[in-house]
Amino acid sequence: MNHVSRTSLSIAALLTLIAGGFLIQFTMADESIPSSESTAETVSECASACGLPSHVDLSSDRFPVFRSDAEWQDRLTEIQYHVARKQGTERAFANPYNDNKETGLYRCVGCDTPLFSSTTKFNSGTGWPSFFTPIDKRTLGETRDVSYGMNRVEVHCAVCGSHQGHVFPDGPEPTGLRYCINSASLTFEAAESAEAIKKLVEAWYHQAN
Ligand SMILES: [Zn+2]
Repeated sequence: MNHVSRTSLSIAALLTLIAGGFLIQFTMADESIPSSESTAETVSECASACGLPSHVDLSSDRFPVFRSDAEWQDRLTEIQYHVARKQGTERAFANPYNDNKETGLYRCVGCDTPLFSSTTKFNSGTGWPSFFTPIDKRTLGETRDVSYGMNRVEVHCAVCGSHQGHVFPDGPEPTGLRYCINSASLTFEAAESAEAIKKLVEAWYHQAN
C-alpha cells in the first residue's frame, strides 16, 4: 500500500468516526428532549380529561364571569382594557410576551383562566406572542371578524369574554394553526417544567367554586 492510499484510508476512517459521533449525539438528543407535541399534550391532559370548574357553565349565552364596564376599567390597565374589552390590538414587538422564552402558563388577564402554555409558543416573527394551540378549545371562543375589510377568526376567553387575538391557518405542525395573541390580554406565571405547568392548569380545573 503506498503512502497516498494509506492517508486517504485514515481520512476515511476519521470521517466515519466523526459521522458516528454526530449520529450518537442526534440519537441522544432525540431521546432526552421531548417533542413540543408531547409536552403540549402533557399540559393539556387535564383540559381534555377534566370537567370544567363548577362556576364555568359554558352552555348559556352569557359569559360565566361577568363584570360591569366600570369594574373592568378598575381592574385592568389602560392598554389591557383597550385590547381585552374593546377588541383593540397592541403594538407589534413593543409588548411584554412577544420575546418571552420562559417556561410557564399564560392566563386570561380578565379572569385567570389558563389559556396558553409556553410549550406551544413559537417565534412567528409577527411581533406578537404566537401559539400553535390553546390549552383547551372549550375555554377559547371563536367568532368571525370582518372588521377592517378582512375576513379573520377572532379568539376570546370563553369564561369572561376578553378579546385575545386571532387564529390563522398558517401555523407550524402539529396543528398548522397560528394563534396570534395580544400580551395585554394575558398574564404570565413562570413554572419549572411542562409537568409544573400541568399542575397549575389542573389546580384551575379542580378549584371549588
Ligand atoms: Zn377570561
